[in-house]
Amino acid sequence: MTDPLTPLRLAAERRDHAGMRRVLQPRAAADEVLDLASNDYLGLARDLRVTEAAGRAARRWGAGATGSRLVTGSTELHAGFEAELADFVGAPSSLVFSSGYLANLGAVTALTGPDTLLVCDTANHASLVDAARLSRATLVVTPHRDVAAVGRVLSGRTQARAVVVTDAVFSVDGDAAPVADLHATARANGALLLVDEAHSLGVLGPGGRGMCAAAGIAGEGDVVQTVTLSKSLGAQGGAVLGDPVVAEHLVNTARAFIYDTGLAPAAVGAAAAALSVLREEPELASRVRANAAELHGLLRSHGLTSPEPDGAVVAVRVGDPGVAVAAARRLLDEGIRVGCFRPPSVPDAASRLRVTVRADLTPDVLARAASGVERALAAVVNP
Ligand code: PMP
Repeated sequence: MTDPLTPLRLAAERRDHAGMRRVLQPRAAADEVLDLASNDYLGLARDLRVTEAAGRAARRWGAGATGSRLVTGSTELHAGFEAELADFVGAPSSLVFSSGYLANLGAVTALTGPDTLLVCDTANHASLVDAARLSRATLVVTPHRDVAAVGRVLSGRTQARAVVVTDAVFSVDGDAAPVADLHATARANGALLLVDEAHSLGVLGPGGRGMCAAAGIAGEGDVVQTVTLSKSLGAQGGAVLGDPVVAEHLVNTARAFIYDTGLAPAAVGAAAAALSVLREEPELASRVRANAAELHGLLRSHGLTSPEPDGAVVAVRVGDPGVAVAAARRLLDEGIRVGCFRPPSVPDAASRLRVTVRADLTPDVLARAASGVERALAAVVNP
């Protein structure tokens, strides 16, 4: 009899040989490391106004939501936050999910079906890719940020319905999608546009209202937005925003909403408090953008290849996954934590260091980060 775990052990060995093994690295509550890997763009995850609100929400509403949203998991706290979030982003309604991943899964699968043409950018986030796979729609993947290709695919469609799906800011290279042009193309072809604002809420648009707000298309009937509450808002959870008929449809058909326990009250309370901070301090969003531009300039001045950042994510193209991993490890030894993207998250030979900035980083810290990245890469390439 073969051991059912043998294929897993063999796969682990193959990963080891290819230098692709990932391991969890639990961090201490208070480490001295300069964190440039998190998505806490506004530095709100540990802001007392946010953490205290989480505690208050847990004490008042309970540690868990106690049930799915359609049974006991919708509290007045959830409803109040949904109204606040929709108002902030400029959409007529919003619906909270227990993660951004599930918001994408729920939105894409509920808004498509076997009669739908689904057009996705090749660099879309994994949650959108998984959603497309589950959707049973006819899927066409278009080249990165190629509006003309989207137009050609849409104009040749035979399906009754069409949905165009894109990240607003792409998570690997930090570049932005041409959402205004995509919307014009989608509208000309009677398609819905779904924009994942995971990396743009709190960063782009007026006061951090996101990319659709920046492009003047938030609240349009043929635009659906998804967000995560786990990046700029420093909490946990996700949401889908759009016309009330979209919310109504999701409540009735999105399995990722219906069969999942509602978002924990602490996370809702934290996200609501973070949103209030963002309303009161809109300069947080512009500070993140300025810090990303500053870091990008410094990295370029050190001779590194880094695409222009449109949000908080600054990528450094490295190529070889072994070099990327070794450089990230070296940086951590020096007290700087950066992200490392390698296959299967990116294509072969397209590995990157991924440095995310926060609103609270000072010029000194940015300079330390840029020279640290340069030194680490140089030491790995020319040991
Ligand atoms: N969309 C994008 C573009 C993301 O980067 C992420 C998170 N990495 C998600 C969706 C998923 O959000 P969450 O972490 O809240 O599940």
